[in-house]
Amino acid sequence: MKISHIEHLGIAVKSIEEALPYYEKILGLTCYNIETVADQKVRTAFLKCGDTKIELLEPTDETSTIAKFIENRGTGVHHLAFAVEDGVANALSEAENAGIRLIDKAPRKGAESLNIAFLHPKSTMGVLTELCEK
Ligand code: ZN
Repeated sequence: MKISHIEHLGIAVKSIEEALPYYEKILGLTCYNIETVADQKVRTAFLKCGDTKIELLEPTDETSTIAKFIENRGTGVHHLAFAVEDGVANALSEAENAGIRLIDKAPRKGAESLNIAFLHPKSTMGVLTELCEK
């Protein structure tokens, strides 16, 4: 696959409203979008940081995978997202052929209408890895 850059870093938070003052007032980043991804039971806030972004992830209910993540591991870095230039579908089949365990067998729509898919952290040295394309 061909990765152009780190698209964003996903960070699990209990509350976007609680987390934003740190990112905006202390770090000086600007939140430009907050949206709910209903099928993932998550509310997301995006902050631009140079060529990459920070994605704050807040669970919308206790069955959300983000709620489970926070319960097990606490708040903090949740996933790393790479922008792929040659398509998420291509990248997925390459990864699968190389024996990498996939969470998503096919690309789906994520926040910001990106096509996204996740690789399983068991196959990626413990880092939940998201691949995305515009
Ligand atoms: Zn993400």
